[in-house]
Amino acid sequence: MRLFGGRKTVFVDADILVIGGGMAGCGATYESRYWGRDLKIVCVEKANIERSGAVAQGLYAINCYMGMQWGENQPEDHVRYARNDLMGLVREDLGYDIARHVDSTVHKFEEWGLPIMRDPKTGRYQREGKWQIMIHGESYKPIVAEAARKAATEVYNRIMVTHLLMDAAKANRVAGAVGFNVRTGDFHVFRAKAVIVSAGGASHIFQPRAVGEGMGRTWYAPWSSASAYALPIQVGAKMTQMENRIVLTRFKDGYGPVGAYFLHLKTYTQNGYGEEYESKWYDDTKALVGDYVDRHPVPTCLRNHAIIKEVAAGRGPIRMVTKEAFQDPHKETVGWENFLGMTIGQAVVWASQNIDPKHTNPELTTSEPYVMGSHATCSGAWASGPEDYAPAEYQWGYNRMMTVDGLFGAGDTIGGTAHKFSSGSFTEGRIAAKAAVKYVKDMGQTQPQVSEREYRDLEKVIYQPMENYRVGRNEIVAGTVSPSYLLPIHGLQRLEKIMDEYVGGISTNYMTNGVLLNRGLELLAMLKEDMSHMGAEDLHQLQRTWELNHRLLASESVTHHTLFREETRWPGYYYRGDHMKLDDENWHCFTLSRYDRTTGKWEMEKAPVYHIID
Ligand SMILES: Cc1cc2nc3c(=O)[nH]c(=O)nc-3n(C[C@H](O)[C@H](O)[C@H](O)COP(=O)(O)OP(=O)(O)OC[C@H]3O[C@@H](n4cnc5c(N)ncnc54)[C@H](O)[C@@H]3O)c2cc1C
Repeated sequence: MRLFGGRKTVFVDADILVIGGGMAGCGATYESRYWGRDLKIVCVEKANIERSGAVAQGLYAINCYMGMQWGENQPEDHVRYARNDLMGLVREDLGYDIARHVDSTVHKFEEWGLPIMRDPKTGRYQREGKWQIMIHGESYKPIVAEAARKAATEVYNRIMVTHLLMDAAKANRVAGAVGFNVRTGDFHVFRAKAVIVSAGGASHIFQPRAVGEGMGRTWYAPWSSASAYALPIQVGAKMTQMENRIVLTRFKDGYGPVGAYFLHLKTYTQNGYGEEYESKWYDDTKALVGDYVDRHPVPTCLRNHAIIKEVAAGRGPIRMVTKEAFQDPHKETVGWENFLGMTIGQAVVWASQNIDPKHTNPELTTSEPYVMGSHATCSGAWASGPEDYAPAEYQWGYNRMMTVDGLFGAGDTIGGTAHKFSSGSFTEGRIAAKAAVKYVKDMGQTQPQVSEREYRDLEKVIYQPMENYRVGRNEIVAGTVSPSYLLPIHGLQRLEKIMDEYVGGISTNYMTNGVLLNRGLELLAMLKEDMSHMGAEDLHQLQRTWELNHRLLASESVTHHTLFREETRWPGYYYRGDHMKLDDENWHCFTLSRYDRTTGKWEMEKAPVYHIID
């Protein structure tokens, strides 16, 4: 390991820089080449794109496919579905834009070798639900990564991007990014005309249910470290709906998916006494959210709500009734195989706890909250919409460009567009890339100016935790607690505790209020002060430090947004105890924030929701 003496600075010039080579990043890289044959396209990834991101382990289903070729669904139907699930608040222009292109993405996946199951009778893709199609998806990510690798001029693996660079010659324009190689320690300076951030969502900002040696077991990928939010936030990009964290109902301890069980195996749930419980909470839920409870399908958050209430009433645990379905050998096989594609750990948990779902109904639980933009939730950056479809107020130049010039986003990064999942994220990457190529071409010969002072100052900040450790470790004779530095794991645990106890995590049963949120902000500010005292023993710990920095900034954003929205819009995701009801009169709107890095202040505002589709 080379620390200070042998560290090189590597300069990379690009027309388009894609940060994060997950689903959206691979889509962006692929499509950049299609529209920009002669451009230099660089993809930078903190892991290795071959097996990186939330899809790293493979998936069993593609959750967003219209099936327009067979007249199964139309893009408008998907917008209605996502709007309903998100209690009325989605960017319909962005959602429609993805839905109208997502089928072509899936067809490309099949062309590239992804085995998609077919219904033997109809010859169509095998449906798991209205929007999901079944795949043999163990190699999903390598297949998608191959397309990106072939399209990119260069792929830089193992580079953790820590900051974006801004143009020294033009205010509010991005000029590149910096980061470090997590294996060699080299400092990387990327200069680019356009940057597409596609760095995934955020786990581990709230205290997880699994702690200690089990803390890596979260539902969303543990390596999803909020860079997608922190990088744009740092440079003043507006964010939206950051309060809309997601809580998942999953099989207990392994977070095994339940969708295929409900949809394919037709299983159902009951309380600890074997009773149906959802209908019992109908009146209670109706009093909170009004007619939204009567929508079909019932919004995801409201289904969580019934579980949370039933368990709090002392009638837990909630169980999935598998004993009936598993008597059918075919369904039993499907039930087990469902975990092989992406959550084999659930099968191991059941084996270790003597649970055979043929004889025992397994427990479900609600997860800790996560922040992301591609599932039944839509936190992320505020982006310009498609020219032919977005209301004028939602357009400021190029599709998927954030409020910073030249800075684009896709996948979990972009807010307001729920239910895009893996295929929709890849599609959004393609959409962002097409616009980014146009942006670069419109720029002509103009080159963004990168200030040497800016990146050299950042270099000092980035590596400082290693210096803190080198100096401070001499004060320790044993153990890990030092008077002069804080280790990343300690900082992470402190962050998770603050978010859990003050911002509506599992220990408060997802409950918070204005008093708690304000105190949470004070505690986050103290943690932020302490971040300059982080100690990193090696490059791995340096990466952990920067992941923590990104998680912390995203957490601050979540807390400000949660404080700003004075209603409980998504019971089952979180509750504002001081504003327990959904309030459409005042809050049928998006929440927007902007962080000013020079003052450290956050500005909040409302933005209108336009219902484009009836
Ligand atoms: C358990 C689980 C099950 C799921 N099931 C399904 C399913 O069945 N079907 C479906 O369609 N979808 C499913 N999804 C959703 C799908 O995985 C996501 O919607 C999709 O991966 C989001 O794409 P993305 O590109 O935004 O993020 P990701 O695919 O997570 O990619 C983000 C990338 O950015 C990289 N990165 C992060 N920070 C940095 C940084 N600072 N510097 C450089 N690189 C960085 C990461 O390493 C990663 O490669 C599931 C997700 C999970 C976690």
